[in-house]
Amino acid sequence: MILKNTLFGNLPGGRQARLFTVETSSGLTICITNYGGIITSIKMPDQFGNSEEITAGFPNLEDYLNDHPYFGVIAGRFANRIAKGKFEINGKKYSLPINNGPNHLHGGSQGFHTRLWNYEITEKPDHVSIRLTYSSPHLEMGYPGNLKAVVEYTVLENNVLQISSEAETDLPTHVNLTNHAYFNLSGFKDDVFAHKLFVNADHYLELDETQIPTGKNLVCEGTAFDYRASNEKMSLIREPMDHCFVLNKNRSLQQPAAILFHPQSGRQIKLFCTQPGIQVYTGNFLDGSLTGHNGISYGQHQAICLETQHFPDTPNRPSFPSTLLNPGEIYRHSSKFVFETLKGKI
Ligand code: BGC
Repeated sequence: MILKNTLFGNLPGGRQARLFTVETSSGLTICITNYGGIITSIKMPDQFGNSEEITAGFPNLEDYLNDHPYFGVIAGRFANRIAKGKFEINGKKYSLPINNGPNHLHGGSQGFHTRLWNYEITEKPDHVSIRLTYSSPHLEMGYPGNLKAVVEYTVLENNVLQISSEAETDLPTHVNLTNHAYFNLSGFKDDVFAHKLFVNADHYLELDETQIPTGKNLVCEGTAFDYRASNEKMSLIREPMDHCFVLNKNRSLQQPAAILFHPQSGRQIKLFCTQPGIQVYTGNFLDGSLTGHNGISYGQHQAICLETQHFPDTPNRPSFPSTLLNPGEIYRHSSKFVFETLKGKI
């Protein structure tokens, strides 16, 4: 495995952001910066041996300092939406900044994706780990408690990316961390509808007009949201999505929560996770105004996010699996992306 640790750029004020580039011997190359914990680039060979960029992002730090749709970031403290930016813990009311219609999204405009994380690198013959840590002060973006967050990216020689997250607090608070990578396994030649998808979910969450869960779980069976067929029967993405799937509880952690496959290139990602949900977002709001790697302007439906997470608006939904973190407890979750190239499956 090869690891490079280079300067990515300087933040206003002079602090340096680093770029870690990890390459496995079969050619999977992943770049991660400690600014926002962002996965800036993933290159992967197709079934004919051509290596291409499969994630939306920018080659320069400057572009990440401007507004962008959370390309590759660690979204936190609370990924996804919190209705009207409000919640209550033990009778105490908290107000978070509103940055998405009437709601709070992805930890706010100055969420974890804009923070410079401390880093520690471990290099072993079969893996490289980049351990990022960030201490978020009490009431940062409105959230209670001093929160110590750790996100460890481990790239394994067998083309696996593991993302392990931990957090501890000194006051009760809510935590929901995810990575927000946008994938296009065709190397951005085709759009998301040329990809096949498996999601290990019988249900998805019904949303209101502001994309907040109504509290009702809808059945996938017989709808365009039924992505339960795997292998040969796996279906092409049928229509735009920006929805949270309820992962089947009876699945073992050895079973993928989701699979994304692009038949022409043979590139596939198998995704495993400990979280109860996956937000599947088909880049509906991408509008071609941002240009990234290889001069590509990311247009609508040109990339898909598979965000492993707790359900949106959980702080206001006692019936959802809880995101409350109390002092003395440890928030702990992990996701695993297995990158594979399948031959002759067109
Ligand atoms: C949300 C989308 C949002 C995108 C970028 C996704 O997680 O579900 O609605 O546009 O992130 O912020």
